[in-house]
Amino acid sequence: MKESKPIPKLGTRADIVQASGTSRARMAGKKKAQEGTRIIDFTIGELALETSPLVKQCAIQAIARGENRYTDTLGLPQLRAAIAAEFTDHTGLKWNENEVALTAGAKAALYYLSLILLDRDDEAIIPSPYWQTFPQQVRIAGGTAVVVANLPDRQLDIPAISAAITSKTKVIVVNTPGNPTGAVYSDQSLLAVAQLAIRNNLWIIFDQCYRKFVYAGIQHRSIVSIAPEVRDRTIIIDSFSKTLAVAGWRLGYVVAPTTVIDHIRAFQSHITSCPNVIAQYGVLGHIQSDDNSFVDGLLSYISSNRRTGLDLLSGLRRIAKPPAQGGFYFYLDVSPLLGLRYGDTTISSVDDVATLLVDEAGAATVPGTAFGDPHGIRLSFAVRREDLVTGLAAVVETLNRIDGD
Ligand code: PLP
Repeated sequence: MKESKPIPKLGTRADIVQASGTSRARMAGKKKAQEGTRIIDFTIGELALETSPLVKQCAIQAIARGENRYTDTLGLPQLRAAIAAEFTDHTGLKWNENEVALTAGAKAALYYLSLILLDRDDEAIIPSPYWQTFPQQVRIAGGTAVVVANLPDRQLDIPAISAAITSKTKVIVVNTPGNPTGAVYSDQSLLAVAQLAIRNNLWIIFDQCYRKFVYAGIQHRSIVSIAPEVRDRTIIIDSFSKTLAVAGWRLGYVVAPTTVIDHIRAFQSHITSCPNVIAQYGVLGHIQSDDNSFVDGLLSYISSNRRTGLDLLSGLRRIAKPPAQGGFYFYLDVSPLLGLRYGDTTISSVDDVATLLVDEAGAATVPGTAFGDPHGIRLSFAVRREDLVTGLAAVVETLNRIDGD
């Protein structure tokens, strides 16, 4: 018999990170589906729709032309220039391609930034409920995530943020429209953040991946448009994942001062080499076409899903309808249900609510614990209309039955 040799231990960093709560919630739904139950998946952080025929066609043409090589580390210069031009329009400030880096999704960009900005034990302020990748990446980089809860109306709590700043604070993360709550921060809040950042010499990571998804007259404005004086300390994160429904193609970008972009070049050169070439050509075709009909159609589909969803959610008895100002999530504050009963079971936590919804309503949702919040559950409304209608009706019926009615 062969002598068994010891297996080396994993590094300590291996245990810092847990799989995202969103993917765990999705797996729970998938397991049920495999057992034969019909499950509607409200956990997804992407559009359940196809991308535009033009984007597909341009990607296919790129393959046919033999575009199989690395691009420049920061992406195709013509795509970076096109993004700079769009940003000049969007922010009212002038940008050039040297201030733009394309990355393998916005997630990769955020990861480089944690590594570039944070020294060990440096602190990053993260308002909550947060998209869980923010604190996880800070931890991977050896930094400390300092979580500051938003106000009940989901806006930033500026006095609390100010009180959380210490000599170790290096960064504040601002995500608007926000995942998971859909909150769009007011100009006033963003101005206050800008002032705090200047006063305390902080970087601002400004994640606006959902900027096109705003509703009911609400407008998204970039922090650099509201306070141009923070441009040299602001790193804007954006992505094509949501707007063009190409999440799986992995293409995001950063707009930032050139020093930051140069460091991203160095990191990216050793991590992914460059973003996916085919995805870049697909998106470039879209941008160069100047044809907004696909994005307009997509936004109007999602916006109409939101209206339909809100109508259904108004049937909830104990739970307020979410404001859903932006993004594509309904974030329900289910705390009035905690401590109540469903049949023989007491609902003690938002995780119990999510489990109940999978079991009884056939709907997979993400409990707020995945976002640092014990009060909410998140449901995506970027699903197909028929799923939205069937699934939300079942969610409302099940939640209304809590307390034994
Ligand atoms: N930022 C936020 C707030 C997100 O919710 C997501 C994805 O869900 C991302 C960034 C990452 O997007 P990408 O697909 O470009 O990595």
